[in-house]
Amino acid sequence: MLVLVINCGSSSVKYQLIETKTEEKLCSGMVERIGAVTAIIKHQIKDQKPVKESLVIEDHTKALKAIMDFILDKENKLVSSPDDIKAVGHRVVHGGESFKDSVLIDDAVIEAIEQAIDLAPLHNPPNLKGIEAARNSLPDVPHVAVFDTAFHQSLPPEAYLYAIPNRMYRRYKIRKYGFHGTSHYFVSRRYYKMTGKGPKDNKIITCHLGNGSSMTAIKDGQSVETSMGFTPLSGLIMGTRCGDIDPSILFYLVEKQELPLYSLHGLLNRHSGLLGMSGYAADMRDLLEEAKNGDRRCKQAIESFCYRIRQFIGSYYAVMNGLDAIIFTAGIGENAPDIRERACSSLESLGVILDPDRNWDTEATGERLISADQSTVEVYVIPTNEELVIAIDAAKIAIAAQQTPWI
Ligand code: ADP
Repeated sequence: MLVLVINCGSSSVKYQLIETKTEEKLCSGMVERIGAVTAIIKHQIKDQKPVKESLVIEDHTKALKAIMDFILDKENKLVSSPDDIKAVGHRVVHGGESFKDSVLIDDAVIEAIEQAIDLAPLHNPPNLKGIEAARNSLPDVPHVAVFDTAFHQSLPPEAYLYAIPNRMYRRYKIRKYGFHGTSHYFVSRRYYKMTGKGPKDNKIITCHLGNGSSMTAIKDGQSVETSMGFTPLSGLIMGTRCGDIDPSILFYLVEKQELPLYSLHGLLNRHSGLLGMSGYAADMRDLLEEAKNGDRRCKQAIESFCYRIRQFIGSYYAVMNGLDAIIFTAGIGENAPDIRERACSSLESLGVILDPDRNWDTEATGERLISADQSTVEVYVIPTNEELVIAIDAAKIAIAAQQTPWI
């Protein structure tokens, strides 16, 4: 089934056109800087050279139109008519407590996503704009919402409740939600498939290390603990986000520097993490390069990043009372052997031993084992593919909706 996958940010729309039967990506691209003087549009058909253009794109509706124009352009030989696209899958960041799974979008679903805006003020509004624009462009096709939070709805209360008065949870739904759910779900399922091990009695830790980073403990196929929380700010050290810090620091800063509370949001989300620690860059490639040149603060930022990962591995080992495998994914997890090595160092007592040749094999791509044969915990690199999860879920739900048209 041909599925269009859409991921809307506040000023960008990313898309992929995926044939779910072959899992092939026929075309992908993005419209960036929506609303700026000129927007940048990129499209790439399969592995061909990307095409780029600059256009005025005022809003998400115009961005969707630019994407549809490209997909429908006869010269690109992607589809012969809009009817060839049988479903649209939308990435939605926050489903609150309402969604444990992906759903067919109807007015009630839109309302529930609107209700979760308070929980994700930066993400859910553009997600909703994308849904509206795509429903206008493709009105006769089922649209499906796939939530970043859904996979973590299996967390037990002892993991998702914060130690603040319980009425804060009851009144405002303040709790741990967790994010990157589609990625943690995808790599765990690829691991079950590639090893032939079922989820039953299996304990794994998935490490999604990108600009945003999170880790999840997965027991019997279910997320039982995860590092991001009420928002994607907590847990690991990230490109520009601080991860876990003592909340008292905020009050101290407000007092000492007379900072208004709202400015702390920017401080912790955009100026902290690897960028803040190094004073140099948020991008791991730049940091590794500069650390090689001897920069002490870059070295420290990298060391702290890896230390935090080791801390979480130890904690999740305790949470699950054992560990079968660790999986690394996303930009850093898939491409940085140096980081994987440091993140797994000094974990021999837990049974984690990397094989240096496997880990540092720069020719190797795709899913691969990088632990030593004597390691009791297997370590894998598994490239993530969140868009494929969204496409497959959208296809499944669209088929179910056709079979039960009253849904
Ligand atoms: P996003 O969260 O934006 O999807 P990605 O998963 O693309 O992020 O990861 C981006 C991060 O991956 C950046 O810090 C980048 O430096 C890092 N990265 C990508 N390739 C490499 C590499 N070869 N070595 C080290 N880090 C890399």
